[in-house]
Amino acid sequence: MNIDVLELGPMANCTYLVSQGQDALLIDPAWDMNYIEHTLKTKGLHLLAVFFTHGHFDHVKESEQLLRAHGLKAYIEQNDVLLSGLPEEVLQPYSGAQDIKAGPFSVHIIPTPGHTAGGVCLQIGDALFTGDTLFPGACGRVDLPSSDPRAMRKSLLILSKLPPDTRVFAGHSYGGKCSSNIGYERVTNPFMRSAIKDEKVIS
Ligand SMILES: [Zn+2]
Repeated sequence: MNIDVLELGPMANCTYLVSQGQDALLIDPAWDMNYIEHTLKTKGLHLLAVFFTHGHFDHVKESEQLLRAHGLKAYIEQNDVLLSGLPEEVLQPYSGAQDIKAGPFSVHIIPTPGHTAGGVCLQIGDALFTGDTLFPGACGRVDLPSSDPRAMRKSLLILSKLPPDTRVFAGHSYGGKCSSNIGYERVTNPFMRSAIKDEKVIS
């Protein structure tokens, strides 16, 4: 499995292109569709599915064009459908933890509300795509309209229990860094550490 990080748009968003052979998935394609199409073409990749980690505009913005061009519906947690502002016909809503298969990929959905009500993390093999739930050394904002600080603490606690060598790929490269691993975050991330410390109160 190959993971390309495409840093696109004015807000340091990270779009992930996950591929195996000629088969590819995109996570949070939101900006610069011409660049994304060009990348798929030059690598000779066939786009099988698109996933959104949550519905904020900077993670979904220009994706309608791409979805229509490829005849795809993007997977999104149902609580974030409205937030995305995208037309229903380009979305495939789902609810709760589950595995979604696409070609050779099995995408395990971990619901992680807190930043938004429909926020999820996507686990593919040893890689975890965390959107705006978990960043290296930080977590996403919890002061937005569908945010819930208590839910965020619970979500961080759930993520802390994943295998320590799970690779983390976040939704933005704030400070120039978008990747980490769970073991490192368990020890260094103050928000995750606080959630672990208060486990009895949270769960
Ligand atoms: Zn967000």
